[in-house]
Amino acid sequence: MTNRIVSGIQPTGRMHLGNWMGAVSNWVSLQSTHQPVLFVANLHALTGAPQLAEDMRYTTRQLVYDLLSCGIDPNRSILFCQSDVPAHSELHLILSMVTPIPWLERVPSYKDKRDALGEEWNHYGFLGYPVLQAADILLYHPTGVPVGKDQLPHLELTREIARRFNHRYGPILCEPVDMVTETPVLPGLDGRKMSKSYQNTIPITATQSEVETLVKRMVTDPNRVRKTDCGTPEQCPVFAYHQQFSTPEACQDVAHACRTASIGCVACKTQCAAALNRYLHPIRERAHTVTNQTIDEVLAAGRIQANQLASYTMDKVKQVIGFS
Ligand code: SF4
Repeated sequence: MTNRIVSGIQPTGRMHLGNWMGAVSNWVSLQSTHQPVLFVANLHALTGAPQLAEDMRYTTRQLVYDLLSCGIDPNRSILFCQSDVPAHSELHLILSMVTPIPWLERVPSYKDKRDALGEEWNHYGFLGYPVLQAADILLYHPTGVPVGKDQLPHLELTREIARRFNHRYGPILCEPVDMVTETPVLPGLDGRKMSKSYQNTIPITATQSEVETLVKRMVTDPNRVRKTDCGTPEQCPVFAYHQQFSTPEACQDVAHACRTASIGCVACKTQCAAALNRYLHPIRERAHTVTNQTIDEVLAAGRIQANQLASYTMDKVKQVIGFS
């Protein structure tokens, strides 16, 4: 049996460093031991604020471009667009018939999202989001699903839905196993969690000068007001970047220099941007090789492969239900 993992990412604009550190770098590593099934979650994206059709097309292709630049290899991963595989929607509908509404209402992110977007956009899609997620996973019989600790309740719900389906119709769907990944949380430019909604991100394919400009904008230790004040690096988002992207020696030097006020924040940020630029260099180099034609070819091949895998599950599901 193929060691397979499944994951998706919504097309919402340029992929940022937080996405890379939190998920995508792990997918790239897992390619050596597993076959990642990765999809552009454009059906899930419909639960957010509406996008124009041309924006949706653009962000979808942008995401594929970013993923390929990051090192997702179409010879080792299946990369496709969720809406190109109708089985996602079909299984979602079937699973919605075995999912009690209270299970969905207790999902914490439902309430958060509803409150964030307001009543105008409060629709079934929010409530049914975990059912679509369950379909996304169960279609491909993964040996594992890479998740952060905060996503464990969602995966447990997927297992509950699979159990309920299997209890009613027969053992068709495999209960997915979580692969909890400890990932460093990288702060955004303003020190909060890096998120597009906060507009505090650094795009993964940012140019050298973009990185320099963005790092210059970063907040620093709030208690270090003057250059002569001694700083506390642990309270500074710039130092969090040094810890990730500078060498251990450089990191130690920066910490000491900050504590003794022998470096200014401008110089510290210049070093930080240089380290980040070195880190991003291979991604930028790969990005130069990704063309529109590459994106078309990858999506076309992914569509065929994903439909083949999904139809294997759907044939069995339809058989036990009595649809075929
Ligand atoms: S010197 Fe560097 S680590 Fe210290 S507060 Fe300034 S930017 Fe942050």
